[in-house]
Amino acid sequence: RQTVDSPSLNEARETLRRVWGHHDFRGLQAQVITEILAGRNAVAVLPTGGGKSVCYQIPAMLRPGLGLVVSPLIALMSDQVASLRQSGVAAARLDSNIPPQERAEVWRMIESGELDLLYVSPEGLSGGNLLERLTELRLSVIAIDEAHCVSQWGHDFRPDYRLLGRLAQHFPGVPRLAVTATADARTREDIRTQLSLEDAAEFVDSFARPELILSAERKDGSAHKRVVELVKARPGKSGVVYVGSRDGTEALAEKLLEAGIPALAYHAGLDKDVRTQRLEQFLEADAAVMVATIAFGMGVDKPDVRFVIHADPPAAIEAYWQEIGRAGRDGLPADGITLYSPSDMAWAYRRLDGRDMAPEVKQVQARKVRQLYAMLEGMACRALSVRRYFGEDVSEPCGQCDICLAPPESVDVTEPAQKALAAAHRLGGRFGRGRLVSHLLGTTKEVSDFESGLSTWGIGKEFSPQGWRDLIDQLLFEGLLKEDPNDGRPLVGLGDGEAVRLVYRGERRVALRKQLEKLD
Ligand code: ADP
Ligand code: ZN
Repeated sequence: RQTVDSPSLNEARETLRRVWGHHDFRGLQAQVITEILAGRNAVAVLPTGGGKSVCYQIPAMLRPGLGLVVSPLIALMSDQVASLRQSGVAAARLDSNIPPQERAEVWRMIESGELDLLYVSPEGLSGGNLLERLTELRLSVIAIDEAHCVSQWGHDFRPDYRLLGRLAQHFPGVPRLAVTATADARTREDIRTQLSLEDAAEFVDSFARPELILSAERKDGSAHKRVVELVKARPGKSGVVYVGSRDGTEALAEKLLEAGIPALAYHAGLDKDVRTQRLEQFLEADAAVMVATIAFGMGVDKPDVRFVIHADPPAAIEAYWQEIGRAGRDGLPADGITLYSPSDMAWAYRRLDGRDMAPEVKQVQARKVRQLYAMLEGMACRALSVRRYFGEDVSEPCGQCDICLAPPESVDVTEPAQKALAAAHRLGGRFGRGRLVSHLLGTTKEVSDFESGLSTWGIGKEFSPQGWRDLIDQLLFEGLLKEDPNDGRPLVGLGDGEAVRLVYRGERRVALRKQLEKLD
């Protein structure tokens, strides 16, 4: 139990000024720091670039004891440690890459109480005797970075993160802070349970990026021509074009060069020196176009990126927001343009099928693919869709995305939506999406008397299974239906009660961009 007086927010602000030279806290930083300084747990969801690190770095410096930071990426860790040291903060990392001699020196500093911040990886913490040795020390704060990795509902599940739940028992009384840039409501809930943070205050900053002008369009084939057009329409501007494959980056960069555009290709298959050199070229250029795989991104901080184009769609909405978010860092308007096709979606599913991961993780990933395409194909303001996806309770359209400026033609599907909602209601949230479809069609195999006795049994014979799946995806996306994880076998139940009632009464319409596929 802490007995010393908590350091104050004023001291924290002085530290921010002295060490980082920032004038004041921004966003929710002050609130998060106050919580930790008072010795309480917190969960903080702050957008990328929002300044998550000082939320634990400052308490680690001000509270007595060693601050422990668990971070999944060695590259990120060494960056952070290097820049902290440059600013005169006593920080170090312990991971598998640290040679024995340095390791001994780090331990000497830990044990003499010189060190303020120790960075470790989750694997590092679970292997060897690191954890044991740490339990003998006084810790000031435990920070779990990229906390969404603990959840199967996050987009980057890492089994090693599950072990971090134990930190609560090992270090009672030490405030713990889970931080991430991406966590929808379900992932946040999971973070709390998995990391024993049930009592933690939750801080969710807005994901709004009003400077981003979003659009998405269907593409034909490889989209090279369209990308060249889009880039040519933005002469003298810097941008990033994301491409799904390494070969693709080279091919498209070539096409852009032929069109007289200063383009560079970037992917993980290139020599490290070549990569560094191209990155520097891009950062320094007034106008350059980086054609890259997603290997390009971490640590790229170019304020005047005026457009991000996805020539191939991102993996999920989390990735979409992160990648698009590299545009407009200076706060000036920037475009986020996504090109996609049904075959991209099919490919995304196929690729998941081939991957070696637990079935329940695979299902979550598949759901994320569905949600991404529901957004791309959808009828709702892009910015609003994304922010709601991240759990923000907002309803004001952005007024500048393609949907807001030119609402696409749509088909009213309110009536079939009512049927699907009624069926989900009657089935009581006990079944998944496939069963809901077979129920509507009246094709459930070995149907129980209970199910065939329901008034919704077989009421949807007009549409094909695909038609119903499309509609259910849309309803899920709009929050009219919701999926319950159920250990990887998601169950579909009714979503927001008030919204569902409005649809039942016909006061809220449901629209789809395309006609539902009919059964012949
Ligand atoms: P995140 O991890 O949330 O993406 P970082 O912690 O790396 O963000 O911070 C992003 C940048 O914002 C860093 O350059 C950091 O120094 C800066 N920053 C953090 N807090 C503030 C602040 N209160 N005022 C101005 N800049 C800040
Ligand atoms: Zn909009």
